[in-house]
This record gives sequence, C-alpha cells and structure tokens, in this order.
Amino acid sequence: VVAIAGTTRDVTDRQAAEQALREQAARLAESDRAKDEFLATLSHELRNPLAPLRNSLALLRRVDGANPKTERIQVIMERQLNHMVRLVDDLLEISRISRGALSLRKEPVEVSTIVHNALETSEPLIQAAGHRLALELAAAPLWVEGDPVRLAQIVANLLNNAAKYSHEGGHITVRSWAEDGHAVVSLRDTGLGIEPEALPRMFEMFSRGHRDSGRPQGGLGIGLALSRRLAQMHGGTLEGYSEGLGKGSEFVLRLPLAQHERHAAPGPAASG
Ligand code: ADP
Repeated sequence: VVAIAGTTRDVTDRQAAEQALREQAARLAESDRAKDEFLATLSHELRNPLAPLRNSLALLRRVDGANPKTERIQVIMERQLNHMVRLVDDLLEISRISRGALSLRKEPVEVSTIVHNALETSEPLIQAAGHRLALELAAAPLWVEGDPVRLAQIVANLLNNAAKYSHEGGHITVRSWAEDGHAVVSLRDTGLGIEPEALPRMFEMFSRGHRDSGRPQGGLGIGLALSRRLAQMHGGTLEGYSEGLGKGSEFVLRLPLAQHERHAAPGPAASG
C-alpha cells in the first residue's frame, strides 16, 4: 500500500511539474512575442523621422553647401545620420527575421561576386583605418543558390567587424574554396581577437564585447546574430574562431554549393 501511495504521489508530482513547465513555456512565448512586437514598433518609429531629416540635410547642403563655416557641421551631421540609419536598419532586419517576415530572393550567385559586392560597402571603412586587404579567392567559380543582397550583407558585416575590431594598419584576408559540397568563405584579421569562452555569446542578439578597449565603435551587437540567421536561412553556417584577446579572429561562412556545381566541382565536392 505504501509503495502504491508513493507511486501515486510521484505521478501527481510529475504532472504538476509538467504543468508548471508548460505554463512557463507559454509565458516565455508570450514575452518573446511582446519583445518582437516592441522591436518592430520601435524600429519603425525610429526610422520614420530619418528620411525627412536626410532630405532636409541634403537641401541645406544645396543651399548652404559652399559656406566654409557650416560645411564641417554638415559633414558631421551627415555622417552621424548615416550611422543612425544603419543602426535602425539593423534593428528592422532583426525584427523582421524574428517575426519570420524576411523573405529571400534566391537565384544562382557566384561567391567572388558576393565578396566584391560586400567590398563596395566595406572598403571605405577598411581604407580609412589603413588596413591591408588580401583576397585569395578560389580560381574556379563557386555557385551557390541565394539572395545576393543578403549574402553580400553577411560578408560586409564580417568585413566591417574585422575593420572595426583591429588596430590601425591591420591585415584582413578573405579566402574562398570548395569543401564537402560547400562554398567556404573565411575572413581572417590580425585584430583585437575574442576570448574563446566569450565567442559563442557574440552571436547572441544585442551582445557586444571590447567595450573597455578604448575604441569607440558604434553598434548594437546585432551584426553577428543577424549574419548567422541569414546564413542559416540559406542552409549554411557561420562560425567564429579566435585564440584569444590580441590574437586576431577568423569568421567562416559555409554555404551549400548549388546542385549543378556539386556534380561539376572536382575533389571532395564531387564525391558527396
Ligand atoms: P557590434 O559590432 O555592433 O558590437 P556584432 O554582433 O557584429 O555587433 O559583434 C558582436 C561583438 O563581437 C562585438 O561587439 C565584438 O566584441 C565582437 N567581434 C565581432 N567581430 C569581431 C572581430 N573581427 N574581432 C574581434 N571581435 C569581434
């Protein structure tokens, strides 16, 4: 009788625990939904005043552009406004992704085109910091099936990070190759590096490091989270590696090779 009573209690305990877990999961889902909604409203509301601000500034520049007294102020305003637009755009993107509202326009894209498109965005930042850039791209074309804009956005995010988190005059190396049915893009820098135990956290939304490095890099801590989600939406992965602070970093993007490419590509890519 004692044994039966014990078993009955175990069963009720388990049911109560399961019920509590279900309630907790429901509360978490609800707070997740509320967070997504807040993020969507916030980013839209922040974006709205930016377009008229931009237009007014452009107008001011036309009217008053040649005035040496105000020219510098206008340049600063323009730079800060562009920065603001980028931050808000990042917020909008991550909010779209969390709500499942971001759709990809996939087409066959070649990896070196992706890298060159990303460089159009990132080269000014790389040059301004006096970094040296080396491109070691696969000689044969690597075709993947993806959204060219989004894929370039991933690589540009990684290039910008390499530029931001390196001391002046760093080296950035971009390589690409085919491996196991995937196109691989590696971005290696000689910059600040990341402690290996902190690395996984850097891919979480709104998580940032190097705040006490004395380098005023603006950012919301969204770039890596966004880039990884975009890579996953392409059936790919994005991983980071670093041996520690001061030892540089490497970020590796892997994307499935397009079907026809797998059969055509020589080596391991063809066998799988
Ligand atoms: P943000 O640059 O806005 O902080 P990210 O999500 O792009 O956001 O990066 C998160 C954090 O990861 C950064 O704050 C930085 O500490 C670290 N990080 C990213 N890329 C690099 C890199 N190439 N070298 C060193 N640290 C990096």
